[in-house]
Amino acid sequence: MSGSTITPWVVGNWKMNPMQADAKQLVQNLKKLLQDQEIAESACQIGIAPISIALQSIQAELQSANRHIATVAQDVSRIAGTGAYTGEVSAELLKDSQIEFVLVGHSERREFFGDAPNILNEKVQNALNAGLTVIYCVGESLEQRENGQAEQVVLQQICDIASVVNAQQWEKIVIAYEPIWAIGTGKTASPADAQAMHATIREGISQITPIGQTMALLYGGSVKPENAVELAACPDINGALVGGASLNAESFYKIAQAFANTK
Ligand code: PEP
Repeated sequence: MSGSTITPWVVGNWKMNPMQADAKQLVQNLKKLLQDQEIAESACQIGIAPISIALQSIQAELQSANRHIATVAQDVSRIAGTGAYTGEVSAELLKDSQIEFVLVGHSERREFFGDAPNILNEKVQNALNAGLTVIYCVGESLEQRENGQAEQVVLQQICDIASVVNAQQWEKIVIAYEPIWAIGTGKTASPADAQAMHATIREGISQITPIGQTMALLYGGSVKPENAVELAACPDINGALVGGASLNAESFYKIAQAFANTK
């Protein structure tokens, strides 16, 4: 069964960008585009992941949009609750600030900040226990793809979290498949390759939980307006995690529109 009846998600990952004034302008431009031509919430859910110190100001800006736009944290602490952990932001503190979504396992965190599987398990567990929805990122390197290991690597990354997610909590998981070689490079997986991996992911998750059949599976890796329509047409691609193109309101809007129109 394909996931084509799943309401798509389009999430902008702003990474370590932009400066405050530009962020404000970006949100204003997006709100204006949505006002001129609305994208119904039932057609596409939209989220924005700003830098941590801007979560609340962006959330406040988004409140005056003509539809709900979720504010998404880019990361969460491996430590739960509160305490003497300098520099950390826990899942409970995010929840306390009305942040309901968090990215976990982005390849940049895995590569540059030591987010190994045991640490990601703690982050996933903390986020779920605090009631957050986790957008869990998976993806293979170019070398792994060329060695024919892509599916094995991605399925292992999903199996890694299975030990800390209980039966009900799978409802609070969204998977983002982001081949590392496609992130920020301008290279996108072909729609056929992306669909094939998404079908593999759906089958793999469905062996763990029946929720796998209805779970949103997002694609990420140089998604832009020019390739969004084709990607959105794939039955198991239920949205996009967008980096670079989310820093331009019009590009981001068009990607959301592509998913809203196709599903
Ligand atoms: C990302 O960072 O999640 C991403 C997919 O980036 P980009 O769209 O720039 O490739």
